[in-house]
Amino acid sequence: MQNLTIKTAKELLKSGQKKATDLVNEYFSKIEQIDPELGAYLSLNKEGALKKADEQDKKGTYDLPLEGIPVSIKDVIAIKGLKNTAGSKILENYISPYDSVVWERLEKAGAIVLGKVNTDEFTMGSSTENSALKSTRNPWNKNHVPGGSSGGSACSVASNQCVFSIGTDTGGSIRQPANFCGCVGLKPTYGRVPRYGVISYASSFDTIGPLTKNVEDAAIVMEIISGISEKDATTVDKPIDNYSENLQNPIKGKKIGIIKEFIEQEGFDPELKKDFMDNVEKFAKTNDLEIKEISMSLTEYAIATYYILVKSEASTNLARYDGVRYGKKTEEAYDLEEFYKKTREKGLGSEVKRAIMTGTFALSSGYFDAYYKKASKVRTMIKKEFDQAFNEVDAIFAPVSPFQAFKIGEKINDPLQMYLSDIFTVTTNLAGIPSIAIPTGVINELPTGLQIMGQHFAEKDILNFAWHLEQMANFKGLE
Ligand code: GLN
Repeated sequence: MQNLTIKTAKELLKSGQKKATDLVNEYFSKIEQIDPELGAYLSLNKEGALKKADEQDKKGTYDLPLEGIPVSIKDVIAIKGLKNTAGSKILENYISPYDSVVWERLEKAGAIVLGKVNTDEFTMGSSTENSALKSTRNPWNKNHVPGGSSGGSACSVASNQCVFSIGTDTGGSIRQPANFCGCVGLKPTYGRVPRYGVISYASSFDTIGPLTKNVEDAAIVMEIISGISEKDATTVDKPIDNYSENLQNPIKGKKIGIIKEFIEQEGFDPELKKDFMDNVEKFAKTNDLEIKEISMSLTEYAIATYYILVKSEASTNLARYDGVRYGKKTEEAYDLEEFYKKTREKGLGSEVKRAIMTGTFALSSGYFDAYYKKASKVRTMIKKEFDQAFNEVDAIFAPVSPFQAFKIGEKINDPLQMYLSDIFTVTTNLAGIPSIAIPTGVINELPTGLQIMGQHFAEKDILNFAWHLEQMANFKGLE
């Protein structure tokens, strides 16, 4: 059961070598064996998973696309009857009374949820160290972070504690942990996958996507979770391409872009830079592609723009966690104001408090024009730079992170350092375009890789490039 993909797991089921209950039981024993040290799972769904597997075994056909496939789900995505904590004390005991659209679709396709996995509190962070509930470790080296905020998802996939996982990406939270743990992570176009039932960080940035063992699995999952929903007005009525059938399309003669400002970025580890350039050049040569250097002149403003906008949106989204509408309330308070204060003081961690404070500041009447409005304008300009770039190239190849998985504790006390680690991922979220992270190798005993960005709704094309890159890289995950 090591390294099972959707396809190999399905083969085991269809050929009668395994039953769904066998798979579920084997994954739970693996979780029991290794997760106490790794800390990917926040809660397990043992009874529910075995019940569903048993029903599927009785039917015995395994004909739905994900029938019998054990998965993990980031703990911000609602599943009826299961906890949905957002990695926060304030929601520690919250049980969701309804399903997210993403889970509705996965469940209909036959997926079995093993449990909910760790995240930075309200998905704010890049290392999962901001989770108030548990610390998660990188399965390649337990002294290192798994990345974040979907660190639980990446860890559970890379350490073979599930077949695939679903995470969220507001500024890099699928791609960066996938990169740190050596799995594939796809951040879809904004509006491709419905957000209903997913706890919001920044509503105009949040996206939901798969973390998988390989590119084909990402394509299969995207076919299931994509598409318009009446429950999310930002989803778009566009046909869903047949991603998995187009993976092997020829790419010969296409143009790929690399971003000059990314290559020259201060703080970009030279060893990773060389590895990135080597991979791009080799890939272009193998597949007869043209490489074009493009300039994204606004890169230096990307982090500031991103953080002003997401913290502003977060400050309004988090107003509902007041102990009345949602959240664990404080027991002792003299009046209403004290009640709110104490509830939030105890229930929320420091990164979340920082978000509420900076966001409220940026939105306040005296500063709105100088911060929020200006950042919104820069966001539009960044989107235009991408539109222009895609007139010249078919896809953009970029590093995912300026460094590999760092040591636990190394950056947690320096929020600005932590924010800077998102330099290569946030621009895609500002522009709303899709991007897929793929592992390409191992350096210093930790995985490394790159991301491929495409135009809005060009998931089919980036998956196609990613599949070819995967053939070249021949990356081997952990056993
Ligand atoms: N590290 C980024 C942040 O804290 C991205 C997080 C995410 O994508 N959810 O905003």
